[in-house]
Amino acid sequence: SNTLYLRVRIGDIGDDLYAIFINDMSEQRRFEAVRRDFVTNVSHELKTPAGAIALLAETVTDAADDPDAVRYFSGRISKESARLTELVHHLIDLQKAQSPQSVIDARRISALDVARAAIAANQTQADSRHVDIRLSVNGQSVPTKVEEPADGEGSLEESGSPATNGPMIKADKEAMQTAVKNLVENAIHYSPEHTTVAVGVGERDGKVTIRVVDQGIGIPAKSLDRIFERFYRVDPARSRETGGSGLGLAITKHCVQENGGRISVWSRTGEGSTFTIELPAAPDEDDDEARSDEST
Ligand code: ADP
Repeated sequence: SNTLYLRVRIGDIGDDLYAIFINDMSEQRRFEAVRRDFVTNVSHELKTPAGAIALLAETVTDAADDPDAVRYFSGRISKESARLTELVHHLIDLQKAQSPQSVIDARRISALDVARAAIAANQTQADSRHVDIRLSVNGQSVPTKVEEPADGEGSLEESGSPATNGPMIKADKEAMQTAVKNLVENAIHYSPEHTTVAVGVGERDGKVTIRVVDQGIGIPAKSLDRIFERFYRVDPARSRETGGSGLGLAITKHCVQENGGRISVWSRTGEGSTFTIELPAAPDEDDDEARSDEST
């Protein structure tokens, strides 16, 4: 509502002089309301799988004589507990991203490494859904994984980053990996089996882009500017089934903005979605990545 909350205090400042202090409380009220909503949402999100697990555990006990039923209900228990775990992880990520004390460890890092780490974190899920993840740099296809040296003569990591490591950005590695990981996770999540998710890293006009393109269900136009809100879901029933926390994109947006970047989305229902992160390219003089972890 547009109610204006004012706190008025009359103070005696001596010598028959009085002052009236007026505080606009509406901002604080709004903040409190947002916080209350958040706690309500979190409680609800935790209660649903927790309640389901309790119920399913009871059912599995009753069905102890029927191996098929036991298998089925145990599977559902696993699914619900995975959902709880995901929600807790996302809450921690969100807390990290939003904390005013959060330290942004901005270093010169490879956007390609970020993309590869985000893909690696989702590879198992992609395989299980037969979703093919592809990676490209400036339109050129590259492997999603860095090849292990065949002769075992030390890993690439030990010998340092290869000279051609694609576009570089100045950003917090962990935050950027979290941001891209969530986009890839969603791309797989909201796509039918046997489709392709294309991750593209590019550099142009002093800007580095990390793009995640899927051939999934897409997002209705009217929802496009709401999907970055905490707990907003286009289809809550579907999300419940596939187990999303509703926090992924809120986390991603925070991580990107904290690192001086922007995120945008294009989508058409039934065709797919494209999420694009854009960050300033890092000038190539100082190589922060080589700096030791102890330095500040
Ligand atoms: P969730 O955990 O539900 O996926 P997110 O914050 O990551 O939460 O996303 C919010 C909502 O945006 C999702 O519930 C889904 O409706 C929609 N969404 C996000 N990414 C995609 C995508 N790649 N394709 C289709 N819908 C998406």
